[in-house]
Amino acid sequence: MQCFDNFKKNNKESQWTEPFVFIHSTDPQFGLIDRMAGKHVLKWDKEIQLTRDAIKAVNRMQPKPKFLVVGGDFVHSMPGNADRNQQMCDFQMCLDQLDKDIPLVFACGNHDVGDCPTNDTIDEYRRDFGDDYYWFTCGGVFSIVLNSQYYKDDTHVKDLTKKQDKWLDEVLDIYKQHNYKHLVVFQHIPYFLREVYEKDDRFKTCIKEDLRIKMLYKLHKSGARYVFSGHYHSNAGGMYKDLEQVVTSALGGQLGTDQSGLRVVKVYENSIQHQYYSVDEIPEIIQL
Ligand SMILES: [Zn+2]
Repeated sequence: MQCFDNFKKNNKESQWTEPFVFIHSTDPQFGLIDRMAGKHVLKWDKEIQLTRDAIKAVNRMQPKPKFLVVGGDFVHSMPGNADRNQQMCDFQMCLDQLDKDIPLVFACGNHDVGDCPTNDTIDEYRRDFGDDYYWFTCGGVFSIVLNSQYYKDDTHVKDLTKKQDKWLDEVLDIYKQHNYKHLVVFQHIPYFLREVYEKDDRFKTCIKEDLRIKMLYKLHKSGARYVFSGHYHSNAGGMYKDLEQVVTSALGGQLGTDQSGLRVVKVYENSIQHQYYSVDEIPEIIQL
């Protein structure tokens, strides 16, 4: 976790220099694969292997990615539940194998802070992974990480939602005062899966419609053109005006027909391109 803190404190990469690559991965969710198989005693060897293999591939990648996002749901067991400590321990052990010069960017998911977070679960998250919302600059790009669980269910933490909202307005003002190439948002839960006005699916995957529209309007108006999310365990995505909601499938267990994998994101001066790869097909050379 050390490299992540250093990244936030020391990152002065506010100027654009050249195209670069970053990785968006999400939902390693250690324990889900056995849970879906209906096993009573859970193991997470498969998730450990997938995460190790993905990190090996990221370490080998040329050019070296500027950062690696883990977009939430690190482990399956909710705060306070059995297996959580061991799952977290194994997850962090896998992350330790990432090259130290590739900073980690965490965005928290519902399994990290609970479906209905409390001050205690947020404190625990902050202790283990740092701030649950923050901004950073890298290669001339301004990035904002949000805690989307405040938008999903903030019954016990309404004051924290207000703080994040106020903070976001201030940060969007900072962005507007400078000349960054892109504004990118990372959050676990997507605003929508395919269509802005789609009906919520049976898993209630997305942010509810009134808040969704309000947030998309605000982010788009401020200059955001990309929101990277997960939570759906399938690849999806769509457009709100010219803002792209990208939904990346899981590094761990799948709920659709995709293979476990991650997304390689290529950042150019005037555009951002991205492609999802299964773990065993992650390319070594990225053409920029
Ligand atoms: Zn989730």
